[in-house]
Amino acid sequence: MATPKKEQPNIAAATPGPLFFRDILGQERVLGHLRAARRAERLAHAYLFLGPEGVGKESVARALAAALNCTQPLPDWDACGACPSCRRMAAGTHADFVKIFPTSESRQPQIKIEQIREFRRLTAYPPMEGGWRVALIKPAEDMHPAAANALLKTLEEPPARHLLILAAASETELFPTIVSRCQKMPFTPLPSALVVRELEARRGLSRADAVFLTALSGGSLGRALTLDPQEMAQQRRQVLEDLEKLGQGSPGAAVAWAKALAKNNQALDNFILLAQMWYRDLLLLNCGAAGRFLAHQDCLADLEQQQKRGGPEIWFARFGDLAAAHRQLQANLNPELTLDILGFRLQRQGTRL
Ligand SMILES: [Zn+2]
Repeated sequence: MATPKKEQPNIAAATPGPLFFRDILGQERVLGHLRAARRAERLAHAYLFLGPEGVGKESVARALAAALNCTQPLPDWDACGACPSCRRMAAGTHADFVKIFPTSESRQPQIKIEQIREFRRLTAYPPMEGGWRVALIKPAEDMHPAAANALLKTLEEPPARHLLILAAASETELFPTIVSRCQKMPFTPLPSALVVRELEARRGLSRADAVFLTALSGGSLGRALTLDPQEMAQQRRQVLEDLEKLGQGSPGAAVAWAKALAKNNQALDNFILLAQMWYRDLLLLNCGAAGRFLAHQDCLADLEQQQKRGGPEIWFARFGDLAAAHRQLQANLNPELTLDILGFRLQRQGTRL
């Protein structure tokens, strides 16, 4: 394990992103709720933003902090973007917007008790700029149990003009005592059409590339923006080759494949996702769906070729096997063992082709 660097509570301004409610994509229910709560002066003292990475949890937290501190908010309660408070929010230098995130000096990044203690010391004083102090804790599931316990005290006795936002993928890994003291706000994956449009506009991608990355992103624009279409196309080629080999190979081939893939978590996740989307496309084509509904629409000729060699029964089975492996990996089962079994299953079906 790496030697811890200098102990430094990691409280810092957030990274740039949308600053206004008007720039947030999707999440209309969350925004509607926050606006209504503000109008009724019934904002909770702590929110738990729940949803996958990259769907706007941090952006909403920033927009909320900006709107709460803006000196000339717009009529629909959004920050003006021009007042001194908004300018500091945009520059990431607002003293009353704090982000508490994991320190990364160890292999497993963690939000430490020192970070929460430093935040608690801060809450003994009113917000420095006279408005609201907004703290974003993200990802909340990375809080060390001692940190979560320390935070509980703040949640039990919320200081005035303070708003806490915990962002997490799900509540399952959080203490129930923390969850019960926050108001839950479910964030939804973004609609595919919206992610495709943003990818085309922001990255100048072709429609086929934008659709391909959108399908792999699971409705997370943040993830879609980080994916490289060429790299993913290369990985897809590898996945298709592996599936082909597994279909014909010996048991030794499945074991070797499992051993190699188990070493790389990202490649493993991508294998499962790319393969699942492949079988989904074959099933869609089989139902007569138009090419524009496919994730791999740039591979139509290959898909049509494969269609002649299999049938829905085998594609359903393969999709189900991949889904089962995915569930087992998420439950932290041994990756190599899970992949051994997946390899044998795919192989068994391959021989029936
Ligand atoms: Zn303003």
